Amino acid sequence: MAKIKKDDELILANKELVFQNKEKEKRAAELVVANKELAFQTEEKEKRAAELLVANRELAFQNNEKEKRAAELVIANKELVFQNDEKEKRAAELVIANYARGLIEASRDPLFTISPLGKITDLNEATVRVLGLSRKKLISTDFFDYFTDSKKAREGYEEVFEKEFVADYPLTLSDNDHTEVLFNGSVYKDDKGGVVGAVVVARVITEQKRIEKELIEAKVFAELATTIAEEAKIKAESATRIAENAVKAKQQFLSNMSHEIRTPMNAIIGFTKVVLKTNLTEKQKEYLSAIKLSGDALIVLINDILDLAKVDAGKMTFEQTPFQMSVSISAMLHLFETKIQEKNLQLVKVYDEKIPKVLVGDPIRLHQIILNLVSNAVKFTTKGKITVSVNLFSENEESATIEFSVKDTGIGIPEAKIKNIFENFQQATSGTSRLYGGTGLGLAIVKQLVEPQGGTISVQSDLNQGSTFSFILTFQKTVAGSESDNRIVESDKEIKNINVLVVEDIPLNQLLMKTLLDDFGFGCDIAGNGKIAIEKLETNPYDIILMDLQMPVMNGFEATEHIRNIMNSKIPIIALTADVTTVDVTKCKEVGMNDYIAKPVDEKLLYSIIVGLVKSPVTLITENIKEKKDVETYTGKGTKCVDLSFLNRRTKSDPTLMMEMIGLYLEQTPPLITALREGFKNKNWELLQSAAHKMIPSFSIVGIGMEFENMAKKVQDFAKGQKDNEELSSMVLQLVNICAQACDELQEEFNIIKNKIK
Ligand code: ADP
Repeated sequence: MAKIKKDDELILANKELVFQNKEKEKRAAELVVANKELAFQTEEKEKRAAELLVANRELAFQNNEKEKRAAELVIANKELVFQNDEKEKRAAELVIANYARGLIEASRDPLFTISPLGKITDLNEATVRVLGLSRKKLISTDFFDYFTDSKKAREGYEEVFEKEFVADYPLTLSDNDHTEVLFNGSVYKDDKGGVVGAVVVARVITEQKRIEKELIEAKVFAELATTIAEEAKIKAESATRIAENAVKAKQQFLSNMSHEIRTPMNAIIGFTKVVLKTNLTEKQKEYLSAIKLSGDALIVLINDILDLAKVDAGKMTFEQTPFQMSVSISAMLHLFETKIQEKNLQLVKVYDEKIPKVLVGDPIRLHQIILNLVSNAVKFTTKGKITVSVNLFSENEESATIEFSVKDTGIGIPEAKIKNIFENFQQATSGTSRLYGGTGLGLAIVKQLVEPQGGTISVQSDLNQGSTFSFILTFQKTVAGSESDNRIVESDKEIKNINVLVVEDIPLNQLLMKTLLDDFGFGCDIAGNGKIAIEKLETNPYDIILMDLQMPVMNGFEATEHIRNIMNSKIPIIALTADVTTVDVTKCKEVGMNDYIAKPVDEKLLYSIIVGLVKSPVTLITENIKEKKDVETYTGKGTKCVDLSFLNRRTKSDPTLMMEMIGLYLEQTPPLITALREGFKNKNWELLQSAAHKMIPSFSIVGIGMEFENMAKKVQDFAKGQKDNEELSSMVLQLVNICAQACDELQEEFNIIKNKIK
């Protein structure tokens, strides 16, 4: 076993040796190869060394190259920086260019840049749009070719280059619309100040032109409108003139008509009155009374219409004169005495003594207001009383406010009608006019007289109980006394010896005036015109002149001027005017007339004015008027009841005439005294009435006091009403006595005259 094992190991070692040998051989072979390789390697190494040399050389060259590249890179970088700079410059230039373009395009008007040679170098879209040509077509063309007047355009552009700036050079583009432009040009220069071109803006002025045209049109239109307006104004003025003329014509017409109507009316009424005083049958008297009543009503109506016309024409003026309120009211109320007695009414005046004595206002208008209210009260009252109260409502240092009221116990006014009665032509019932007469104008006028003076009017009324009309007016106070202005003074029976010069050209008016003045018992002389009046005035003494305005030869104004300025006379002059609505009234005062009175003349007013101007007004208290004491004062002739001054004047003291007239009186009076006595004794009312009536005209002729005339009138009325009472008895007695006394006295006078002429 161990042998086997050694064999095996020997074999194995042999094998190993063999293998080792083989390996050695292999190694030797390999060594050979390695040597060969080494030789090769060395060879290679040498080759590599040679190559390295080359490579080193190459490297040096490469380094060289690299340095060159680096230098080039620096240059390239510089170039890049430069390029970038350039780029930035370009970008900035672009911004500027864009900015410039923006500016150019911002203009909505054509804008060009032109070279000094006039070539278009740039332009904006507006140019393209306005000229209708493309940019391409326009660039480098002659600028002035695009204007209708190329010569003017050339001169314009030359001017730009010459003056460097041109403004508002007018040109017209040669486009289809021939657009008008205002050419503004300004040169631009290079950095050395050399002019390189010009910027030109052709400002389109179509809109301005349109506005200008519109303005011109508007101006023309405005001028036209002004012309039209002026024409319209002229037309309006002419219309106003026509209207004013129409108003004037209406006024003139009213004035003429009133004159035309009033003159004959005055004649009718005046002569009716004269005839009424003569012996008449009852029927004749009745008819004549009817004529007189109608005439009076007509005159009232005409006066009312005239007053309303005055209000319409704004001609209602209010005077500011000092007057005595108490006197004015008393005097005015006396005018109603007869009427009050006729209707058997009572008239009570309640006057507040606290009212300042003299106040400033328009007494005539006040009179007119109260007259209207009292007339109505009397008219609409059949029994009871009418109370006129005047109370101080309030007072301060400058003025006094007074409440006037007229209270009656008459028919009253239905409540529903109260608000209408102050309107024109309004009456409370349709039957009023038939039953009571009137026109419904009175209260309308009253309202027009109260309100414009700042007053108020009111009415309180109960049907069948009565009415109270009240109005409040303020008057200024004054320290001055009232002038002899009180036109409405009570008839002063003492005033008889007044000598009046009537200056009037129309014979009918002369006669009427004479009749009136005769009635008053005044002396009267007539002058046919102003010249005659002056002549008469130079030789005869007169107390007052009644002066007509329109007369031939010398009119009333001229005559008054002469009397005042040449003759230096202060004689009172009253104008007789047909129309108080015209300027005549102002003119009257200007030439120095004292007062005026409208024709036809209101008897009582004329009397009052004459008395007022000749004598100072008499203060009368209503309540005292009937007292005997006063009556006596009025007659004031001592024991004599007749006064022949009237007859003396009338007959110019011609004894034959005087005797004739006294004879007539002595002849007619005794039968009348008998008739009066018999009539009363036998209750023969007709006889009594006619006797009293026939006596009346003679009283003023022989100068028996007015109170007896009134007494006779009263007897007449009582007889008419068949009223037998104590008052009648006393009145008849007084009349019989006075007439008997008058006969005695006149017989004496008759004898004296008769003896004188023997
Ligand atoms: P006239 O009296 O002319 O009719 P007015 O204008 O003065 O006109 O009066 C208008 C109306 O007012 C009268 O018609 C009457 O109906 C009524 N009236 C006026 N005053 C009174 C009065 N005192 N009593 C009753 N009615 C009156």
